[in-house]
Amino acid sequence: MFDLLKQGCDTAKKEGCQFADARYLSIRRQRIVSRDHALSGCSDSEDRGFGVRVLYQGAWGFASSPTYSAEEVSRVVAQAIRIARASAMALREGGVQWAPEPALTLEFESSCEQDPFGVAVEDKADLLISANEVMLRNSSVKRAQGHLLFKRVRRWYANSEGSEMHSDVTSSESIIWAIAVGNNDFQQRNWQAPATNQGYECYSKDEFLDQAERIADQAEEKLSAKLSPEGEFDIVTDSENLSLTIHESVGHATELDRVMGYEVSMAGSSFATRDKVGEFKYGSDQVTLVADNTLEHGLATQGFDDDGVPGQRWEIVKDGIFQTYSTGREFAHYIGEERSRGSCRADHWSSIPIVRIPNLFLMPGKTSLSPDELIADIKHGIYFEGMDSFSIDQWRLNFQFGGNAVWEIRNGKKAGMLKAALYQSRTPDFWNACDATCDENYWQPHGVMNCGKGDPLQIAQMTHGAAPTRFRKIRICRGRNP
Ligand SMILES: [Zn+2]
Repeated sequence: MFDLLKQGCDTAKKEGCQFADARYLSIRRQRIVSRDHALSGCSDSEDRGFGVRVLYQGAWGFASSPTYSAEEVSRVVAQAIRIARASAMALREGGVQWAPEPALTLEFESSCEQDPFGVAVEDKADLLISANEVMLRNSSVKRAQGHLLFKRVRRWYANSEGSEMHSDVTSSESIIWAIAVGNNDFQQRNWQAPATNQGYECYSKDEFLDQAERIADQAEEKLSAKLSPEGEFDIVTDSENLSLTIHESVGHATELDRVMGYEVSMAGSSFATRDKVGEFKYGSDQVTLVADNTLEHGLATQGFDDDGVPGQRWEIVKDGIFQTYSTGREFAHYIGEERSRGSCRADHWSSIPIVRIPNLFLMPGKTSLSPDELIADIKHGIYFEGMDSFSIDQWRLNFQFGGNAVWEIRNGKKAGMLKAALYQSRTPDFWNACDATCDENYWQPHGVMNCGKGDPLQIAQMTHGAAPTRFRKIRICRGRNP
């Protein structure tokens, strides 16, 4: 598989390119969807092709094709070179400064004990429909839905520096939903088995059925929940809820290409400008946020990125202080770093790599602390579990987040459920209000399979994680009228 890719890179070198790389990808996706007592959708596809990227006098050229043959590789390389030469004529400054990287031979395979594509569709349908039937036993639940997604990406990467890398990564995701109707209202409650780079072994039918019963009961309970109070409250977030807040307020805010203005037209810039590195108090001293593209089962763990840089672990925020960004080889020099952090990924053979959020998580607390102890000294507060609607501004600064299930905290204990609660803050205010997070026994990962970025849009995956965490005096408002 490598021969044609290497030939393509060699040709580009001979034509005067500073750098070239070529990727061949095979992407298989299977999606199974259920609604109430039946399967409502099933798709299974495999998509193959290659892309060639060349750097000529500081300018990029990229071209791709679904047909993998010697003739087609030559044509695509020539096209990429023509594009790069044309782009070089329009450069206003010196162009791309490409961070060096040693040539490497690397092989990566994610752990997959049971190949999800080898499991019969009937068994997967049974898993989802059985869960739906448990949810529908609750008379308030009028609709039950489920979804399974399996993805296997095999990738061959070669570059003009002599690197040859291969990865084989299997990812799995599942979600079930219960929608309850009554009391002049409807409410949705879901459960997501953490999306992960693992195979079918991460699913257990017993767990699906237990969770189905729990979320059906909670969907029903949400119907008669009282409307959230408004004002300033101490709040606690569970792992899943905080994962989305980490993603939006830290992950996207610290992508260096966004900071440098490469993403502004699509999804905004960032308040986390370069002058803040090493000094800015992003959060309280309880807040250490670690990026780790070597995290076991992490969705962004794929051995190496699409710049040909191996996965790494680094600190974005340490003891509250902003340390550095997620970067690719094109961006490292903007912050005086000599090496890329290896976080530049493409979502398809026809896409160019862009800086993506790595696996990124809040480190658990160093001293023993359980969720019960975390809420014990909150007189009147709010507990957020799971994800709901959210929004964040173009600077990744002002935001609001809801929760899929929200409880009032009264005198140190979880009391009844609440409707329509949202927490609203500014990124540094929020993280500086963090005064405790539970210990490692309560830390959980949470996978994101659908992070959108780029224009044209690319969809990436990564894992976040946290233990239940407390934030003091956060503004709570209502997301809708009663
Ligand atoms: Zn995202």
